[in-house]
Order: sequence, then C-alpha cells, then structure tokens
Amino acid sequence: MTTTAVNLADYIREIPDFPKPGINFKDVTPLLADGDAFAAAISQMACFVESGVDAVVGIESRGFIFGAALAQQMGVGFVPVRKPGKLPGRVHAIEYELEYGMDVLEIHRDALAAGHRAVIVDDLLATGGTAASTVQLVRRLGAEISSCVFLIELDFLQGREKLQDVPVHSMIHYAG
Ligand code: AMP
Repeated sequence: MTTTAVNLADYIREIPDFPKPGINFKDVTPLLADGDAFAAAISQMACFVESGVDAVVGIESRGFIFGAALAQQMGVGFVPVRKPGKLPGRVHAIEYELEYGMDVLEIHRDALAAGHRAVIVDDLLATGGTAASTVQLVRRLGAEISSCVFLIELDFLQGREKLQDVPVHSMIHYAG
C-alpha cells in the first residue's frame, strides 16, 4: 500500500471516558499495530520537517514512539523529554498546569547545544500545555524550535494558541 492511500484517522480508536469520565481517549495502538499505517504516519509527519534540523525531541511516552521513528527517517538524533525522576543526568525541569493539578517535565541539560534546531513530536495536541512546556525546555538549552509535529490535534481545545510562535502541523484533526 502506498502511504498516500492510507487514511490515518481510520486507525485511531476512540475510547469514551478513559482514563476518567468525560475524556474521549484517542488510542493510537491500532495504527501502531498496522505496519503500513505506522509507516504512512511517519512519512506524512516527515513531510512537515524542515531539512537541516539537528534533532527530534519526543515527549513521554507516546511521543517517544513517533519521535524516535521520525528521527530515524530523518537521519537525526532523538532527545527524550521525560516525567520527573526518569532521566539520570543533570536536567532542566518545568512545572505546568493540568486540568486538575500540576505536572513536571524534564530534559537533560546536555541534550541539545545552543543554536541547534529541533522538531518537537507528540502523539496528540490537546490543550497545548505539554507541548508549550517542552518548547520552553528546549529554549532553555539555547536551541531553536523548527516546528511541532503531532499525529492528532483536538482542534476544539485550541492548543495551538499556546504555540503561537512555532509552526504547528498535525496529521489528523478532530473538530469536536
Ligand atoms: P495537552 O497538554 O492538554 O495538550 O495534552 C497532551 C498530552 O496528553 C499528550 O501527551 C497526549 O498523549 C495526552 N492526551 C491528552 N488528551 C488526550 C486524548 N483525548 N487522547 C489521548 N491522549 C491525550
């Protein structure tokens, strides 16, 4: 199957009220389980990556799956942004607000050098807090953001408003 023949949205399973009531969870595991669909997703994401980027930054945990595959396809390195206490070296940390409570993300201080250009990747853009915090972490290292690339965007949550100074690309959109 050619990558353009694959409709990626067909491979996303919606699970109502997971992990809590009111959340319509977008499950990417059917897409990952299908070799053609997974390859098509990575090829489509790669179309939006500028040439000359130095690294792909993936956000724990599903951002690791898409980010690492994209890094391989682009021939560049992969940098993980992780939940607190997971990275063994010296880190920068950022605390950000969730719907209920706070969360923290960390990046290794030596993960990127000043002037490096990075693409930030996650499976899904919802309210934008996770991606906006990752943008700040990457900038703290002196690196630049080429773009943010997501498999899925929940348009109705307007997450891209938190990413106004970065190009944002999503392969699948949900209007509501
Ligand atoms: P946000 O910070 O609100 O943009 O949330 C984005 C993060 O939460 C991503 O890492 C997603 O994997 C996860 N996420 C948020 N909402 C959903 C959803 N409806 N289905 C699956 N994952 C979600």
